[in-house]
Amino acid sequence: MDARLEAIRDTVLARNPGEGEFHQAVTEVFESLGPVHDRHPEFLEGAILERLCEPERQIIFRVPWVDDAGRFQINRGFRVEFNSALGPFKGGLRFHPSVNLGIVKFLGFEQIFKNALTGMPIGGGKGGSDFDPRGRSDAEIMRFCQSFMTELYRHIGEYTDVPAGDIGVGGREIGYLFGQYKRITNRYESGVLTGKGISWGGSLVRPEATGYGTVIFAEEMLKTRGLSFDGQRVVVSGSGNVAINAIAKAQTLGATVVACSDSSGYIVDEAGIDVALLRQIKEVERGRLKDYEARRSAVTYVDGGSVWDLDATVALPCATQNELDGAAAARLVRHGLLAVGEGANMPSTRDAVAVFQEAGILFGPGKAANAGGVATSALEMQQNASRDSWSFAHTEERLTEIMVGIHDRCAATADEYGDPGNYVLGANIGGFVKVADAMLAQGLI
Ligand code: NDP
Repeated sequence: MDARLEAIRDTVLARNPGEGEFHQAVTEVFESLGPVHDRHPEFLEGAILERLCEPERQIIFRVPWVDDAGRFQINRGFRVEFNSALGPFKGGLRFHPSVNLGIVKFLGFEQIFKNALTGMPIGGGKGGSDFDPRGRSDAEIMRFCQSFMTELYRHIGEYTDVPAGDIGVGGREIGYLFGQYKRITNRYESGVLTGKGISWGGSLVRPEATGYGTVIFAEEMLKTRGLSFDGQRVVVSGSGNVAINAIAKAQTLGATVVACSDSSGYIVDEAGIDVALLRQIKEVERGRLKDYEARRSAVTYVDGGSVWDLDATVALPCATQNELDGAAAARLVRHGLLAVGEGANMPSTRDAVAVFQEAGILFGPGKAANAGGVATSALEMQQNASRDSWSFAHTEERLTEIMVGIHDRCAATADEYGDPGNYVLGANIGGFVKVADAMLAQGLI
């Protein structure tokens, strides 16, 4: 890492002790930015990096709620409003027991660059809670969401901060959150949340957008080597919103997706995952992946283990951070891997990224490859602002244009900085320069 940047990075790490994922995300971005600071000394003079690493505002709050047995429960809520140089803070809410400030900060930091890459007018933020939705009834989820919003509402707004979903937060949760916001504020402010239902201000394609976008990005990477998804053997991790829609899109493009996972295990279906069945189990019945095995022939369910023990020509990690390590990456490379598209945020460890890059694997980092979700959220905000709703075909066309644009911008930036094919460098520099220019223009705030 450039020595000037290393000194700033060390200060950031010391000021934010115990936030391992945040440290990892900051280090990864800083490693790309040396050459930018040679060309733009004004970014150092303007203390851009120091300001970028210090969120504009961090909110931590108590979320009290009552479970079905009448017991009082207390969780912790977070919203980190990281950077509003390009627009209102924008980023999802994650409900998962692992959520803590360091995780929310890593996600919010990544979100700044991702949102800049989309070309849409959105800043970066992220939030969530250590609430575990697994095994909770619908009524418990509703009461939790209502309590969460009873504090959050005062910090968000169409022009301030616009949350959306992430792990553990889908259409159902956004509905309860929106309802409570509307009730407290007495405003039908559609643009305050995205991922809404289609009849009350949502956008077509938003549920599919992250997974579809990841596959569109990966298809563009494959094209640079004269390849495509057609005929590829694909392994996907996760079986949530991003994973299911990535599977659907990859198979539409002619790939066979042979496996996907959840935190308990994975299924192997050599004939190609039956997306309709998977949606039924996960989205309608809210069941577990294990249930898939009994309902389709020639399927194996592996309890525990890692889906990355399987061979694939294309890997789409779509579950969570640091789920694919250096040893798994090396194994995949030895067994014929061509490309990786990160549907999740930071699913590959730094060791894994190094293995992929040294082996010349096409590697699309999450902040570029999974930007389709937030980009379509910005399209939802556009529709809300103009009180309009677009067709599926039109919205999907916009999503495709945006993803191809992100791919091309990352590739062109990597070329410009002398490292063709390095999408990590391209994404980090491409996103950073846009935000840094806006921050300089807006003065020391
Ligand atoms: P969902 O909650 O819909 O699904 C998450 C999936 O990942 C589930 O299969 C879950 O398994 C698995 N998973 C979650 N945590 C772990 C863990 N600690 N270990 C193993 N598996 C785990 O979330 P999404 O699909 O929305 O999000 C997946 C990833 O994509 C996240 O990294 C998120 O930040 C990222 N992302 C999401 C966007 C969106 O639009 N939703 C946008 C951009 C990025 P189980 O059910 O067993 O917990």
